[in-house]
Amino acid sequence: MIGRLHVPYSGCRHGNPDTLAPALEIKNLSAGYSGEQRLALKKINLSVPVGARVAIVGPNGSGKSTLLKSVAGLLPIRNGKIKIYGEAVGACFHRTVYLPQRSEVQWSFPIDVRKLVLSGRYVHLGWFHRAAKEDYQKVDVALNQLGIKSIGQRQISQLSGGQQQRVLLARALVQDADLLLLDEPLNAIDADTREIVSKVLKDLKDKGKTVIVATHFLDKMAQDYDGAFYLNEGEEAAIPPGGFSGIKLR
Ligand code: ADP
Ligand code: MG
Repeated sequence: MIGRLHVPYSGCRHGNPDTLAPALEIKNLSAGYSGEQRLALKKINLSVPVGARVAIVGPNGSGKSTLLKSVAGLLPIRNGKIKIYGEAVGACFHRTVYLPQRSEVQWSFPIDVRKLVLSGRYVHLGWFHRAAKEDYQKVDVALNQLGIKSIGQRQISQLSGGQQQRVLLARALVQDADLLLLDEPLNAIDADTREIVSKVLKDLKDKGKTVIVATHFLDKMAQDYDGAFYLNEGEEAAIPPGGFSGIKLR
C-alpha cells in the first residue's frame, strides 16, 4: 500500500496571509453562459463573513446556481471580482466545495453510495489517487452523520430523493472544505432529512465553516441561516415584506 504523499497542494498557499478577509467577497459580478448574449447575473455585490450561513433565495431561473457555480470556478465570469478568503477563485481549490443540484447528477451511473461519497476526498489524494484509512474513516463519519451508513453498498440509482440529497451532502462534507456551496440541498426531501440538514448546517457553523445555500424554501430561515441574499432575474432583489434578512452582506 502506497502511503499518503505529504506534498503541498499545488497552487495553494497555506497560511492565508489575509486573515481578516471575508470568506467570500463578490464585487460587481456579471456572468452568463457561452453562446448566450443575455447575462444570467448582473452586477452582484456580496460579502459573506467567515463562519456565516447564508441563504441565496430566489425563484427558478433567478441565478442562484449561476452564482454558486461562478464562486466554485465552474463558470467563467464576464465582469467583476470574486475572492475566497482573500484569494482568487481556484487559488486554493480544495478549500471550496460545490454540491450540485440533485437534477444535475447522473444517478444512473454504476457506483455505490460509499464510493460516490469517497470521491469527495479525491482533491486530497496524492499521486495514484489511492484512498488511505483516514479517507475511509471520514466517509464513515459522514455516512453516520447523515444516517445513511446502512445504504453504503447500495447503487446510487436505487436511492429516494431524500437519500440522494443526503449522499450529495455527505460527499461535500468529506472534502473538509472551509467554504461550502450547497445548491438546493432541501429539494424533494422528507422531514427527517430536513432535520438532518439543519443539524449539519449548525455543526458546520460550530466548526467555523462558511456555508452558502441556494434555496427557494422560506421556512425556518432564522433557524438555519445567519443571513439571506435575495435574487430576481439575475439581480439582487430587496428583502420581501416580512422576509428574513439577518446579518449585513455588503
Ligand atoms: P436558479 O438556480 O436560480 O434556478 P440559474 O442560475 O440556473 O437559476 O439560471 C439563471 C439563468 O441562466 C436562467 O435564465 C437560465 O435559463 C440560464 N441558464 C442556466 N443554465 C444555463 C445554461 N447551461 N446555458 C444557458 N443558460 C443557462
Ligand atoms: Mg438552480
